[in-house]
Amino acid sequence: MTLDELEVLDGKVSDEAQKVIDEAKKECSYGFEMPIMNEIIKTSEKTGTLKWTHKSIRSCNYCNKNYDYHTYSRNSRNHTKGDKNYDKPIYYSGIKFNEGFVTFQGDGDMCLECCTKHKVKERLIDYIIDNDLKIQIVKNDYRVSKYLKDDIRTCYSCNEDMLESQMGKERTMMGDGFYPSKCPHCGAESKPFGKSHGVTNRFGMIKNPSAKEEVQKTKELVDAYNQNKDKNDHLYFYQNSHTDSIFGVNEEKWTNGYTKVIQFNINSKKFTVGYFYKEKCQQFKELLTSFGYIEVEDK
Ligand SMILES: [Zn+2]
Ligand SMILES: [Zn+2]
Repeated sequence: MTLDELEVLDGKVSDEAQKVIDEAKKECSYGFEMPIMNEIIKTSEKTGTLKWTHKSIRSCNYCNKNYDYHTYSRNSRNHTKGDKNYDKPIYYSGIKFNEGFVTFQGDGDMCLECCTKHKVKERLIDYIIDNDLKIQIVKNDYRVSKYLKDDIRTCYSCNEDMLESQMGKERTMMGDGFYPSKCPHCGAESKPFGKSHGVTNRFGMIKNPSAKEEVQKTKELVDAYNQNKDKNDHLYFYQNSHTDSIFGVNEEKWTNGYTKVIQFNINSKKFTVGYFYKEKCQQFKELLTSFGYIEVEDK
């Protein structure tokens, strides 16, 4: 039985059966001492995402930040110094996880201080990644999401379902990126002002290319290289905006654009080295070679 099914029966059965339900509920929950964290993971499993937003809140359940109002700082005709000013509620910096389309002002899960103190974000992220839960975690500084949510669309022409990751890509009108456009079954394309493929609330999950170890290690190498260097001498790590299995490193100078250092494809396990970096990027080459990559000529 799932936790959802248990909750339907919860409180409606004999004492004997209730005991079993209570026990099972405990096992079904994720074992966090803060109930809100169990709730967050449960929602994330349903929606396929873990995300959060910062928002102003009126109170926090985990510390002494209470629902309150600012006080008047001086006497006047209508009030005395120290009286509560009911036009001026006190707001605290807070956080809300997995907020849906409907938002409530002042409503959050906890204050930012408690979130940091109890390492709520970090522990949720660790739990999801370490237990291999198929949940896309929003971009953050702590750990990279192992999975990406892959929305299912329905073709306007052949009515077949398709995963966004399998659709052909088209350049955006602004020319600043690509968007999924073409049906992989019949080739029908969605047009900016014309027909487009139906949106569903169903989704699949794919492995996040950025979570690959060699991608993370290359990023770390770039960061280490950039340390204590002038901004104009920095190297830049990127993911190709058209083909998300391609990653690379460029040198970018404001004087003469960018120079390729290295580029690699995690699917073909091949890499190419930029002309001016043939002899200069040994560390990157060694890293990729150690992951079974082979160097091919740049075309
Ligand atoms: Zn708090
Ligand atoms: Zn189609």
